[in-house]
Amino acid sequence: MAEYDVDLFVIGAGSGGVRAARIAASYGASVMLAEEFRVGGTCVIRGCVPKKLMVYASRYADEFVDAAGFGWHVPETSFDWTRLVNGKEKEITRLSGIYRSNLDKAGVTLIENRAVVEDAHRVRIVGEDRTITARTILIATGGHPVLMPPVPGIEHTITSNEIFDLPQMPKRILIVGGGYIAVEFGALLARLGSQVTLAVRASNILRGFDEELRTALRDAMVEAGINFKFGILPERIDKAGATLKVTLNNGATLEVDQVMLATGRNPNTKDLGLEKAGVSLDAIGAVKVDEFSQSTVPSIYAVGDVTNRIALTPVAIREGHAFADTVFGNKPTAVDYIGVPTAVFTTPELGTVGLTETEAREAYHCVDIYSTKFRPLKATVSGRAEKTLMKLVVDGETDKVLGAHVLGEAAGEMVQLLGIAIKMGAKKADFDATMAVHPTSAEEFVTLRTRTARYRKDKADMA
Ligand code: FAD
Ligand code: NDP
Repeated sequence: MAEYDVDLFVIGAGSGGVRAARIAASYGASVMLAEEFRVGGTCVIRGCVPKKLMVYASRYADEFVDAAGFGWHVPETSFDWTRLVNGKEKEITRLSGIYRSNLDKAGVTLIENRAVVEDAHRVRIVGEDRTITARTILIATGGHPVLMPPVPGIEHTITSNEIFDLPQMPKRILIVGGGYIAVEFGALLARLGSQVTLAVRASNILRGFDEELRTALRDAMVEAGINFKFGILPERIDKAGATLKVTLNNGATLEVDQVMLATGRNPNTKDLGLEKAGVSLDAIGAVKVDEFSQSTVPSIYAVGDVTNRIALTPVAIREGHAFADTVFGNKPTAVDYIGVPTAVFTTPELGTVGLTETEAREAYHCVDIYSTKFRPLKATVSGRAEKTLMKLVVDGETDKVLGAHVLGEAAGEMVQLLGIAIKMGAKKADFDATMAVHPTSAEEFVTLRTRTARYRKDKADMA
């Protein structure tokens, strides 16, 4: 009789868990996977995918305006929230089905229930009153929105979990936070017709992104009609019928239909049985892991958002794959976290890879900046005031490109490809040697001839 029921038990059918389960099974492991909500996890069900669909919907607002500049007679337009929500639901159900059939094809047994850890080799299926023994357990339970600040009336708020399925689009919304989710939803809801206010505890949005770009994005969002309240947070929320009356900590009040908290996400480890099994967690409950995603209990591993490394889908997928290679494929693989490209799907979009100007100036002796700001060709005839911003951060001593940043149309698409060049260690001279594709916006990255600034640690800043 086998020592364990299965070789691998995965808890969580999101980006990381599904990849790990499929790859482990492809190496011949017997795999069970438990999911308590919907197969596909945050990204497919209430994250990246439905968000991007809503971003697409929102951008028609700009297209209609632009079209007029190009000679189209655009009749009066109107937007149907229910139709978008239904279309989104159809697509994520289709994708969830694909995930499910891929697991099935790989021979993974899916258990649609909550699972918790009993000890180093045992998992209990909650609600089924059965325990499965596994040689290895993988925790891939993702994260959940943090509800902050803890003000009276917080029970009236929503998070990104609820926004995708609201029966009506909020005509007026207060979004708390200035990170990815706050700015993405702020930008998209404003275009769909909401009156959007963002309450941000800091003095700018998107902490950690390149200063110039985050400020330019903030300005573009103000231009689009979004009302920012920096250094201000809600103090209490009172419900009066369908209206929420928000008292802010500067004494002002605001009436809205919804308050959405977008103040970060914490790992899903509550009541999971991990501490009892001997797994060490950090201060926010993330599973502490080594470079191979192994926890402090040798038979228990963890990947994705639950480890609070970089909370992005491609990173969770890569971690899940590397785990399976390491444990079942006899190929010890550590994920490389250097130069992970990322995009913020606001309008305009922000894409970034590598070091920001500030990070480079802290870490390098001599840093050269090549940047440009221009009005994209399309905006000239459409009449839009939009500006595209691009920046290369270069090591002034070796000519190596340390970072690339772009704010403008297709920024995410650009940084995906710029990421390859930067990962390969491209020099500014390699960018210069690359022929431009004309007329595009991306060509600016290979035609940036004039240095905008040079910063040396031993000398005063000089251009
Ligand atoms: P998840 O995908 O969260 O999956 C975890 C799964 O575990 C869930 O399905 C959950 O139900 C299940 N689960 C939890 N506990 C248990 C249990 N005890 N038993 C059984 N099942 C359990 N990233 C990007 O790269 N690009 C984007 O554009 C992007 N947009 C985002 C937009 C939003 C609104 C949000 C919230 C996130 C976004 N992200 C984006 C982040 C991305 O969704 C996550 O990084 C990614 O989903 C993490 O994958 P994961 O496998 O770690 O966890
Ligand atoms: P972020 O970490 O991006 O932003 C959190 C925001 O909440 C910050 O502005 C932060 O302020 C603020 N905040 C934190 N705590 C408090 C508090 N107690 N009171 C008031 N404000 C607070 O998290 P999100 O929730 O936006 O998104 C979670 C993660 O999901 C992201 O970090 C990202 O990894 C991923 N994601 C990726 C997307 C993409 O790839 N396009 C899209 C959406 C999410 P401060 O900066 O001052 O700390």
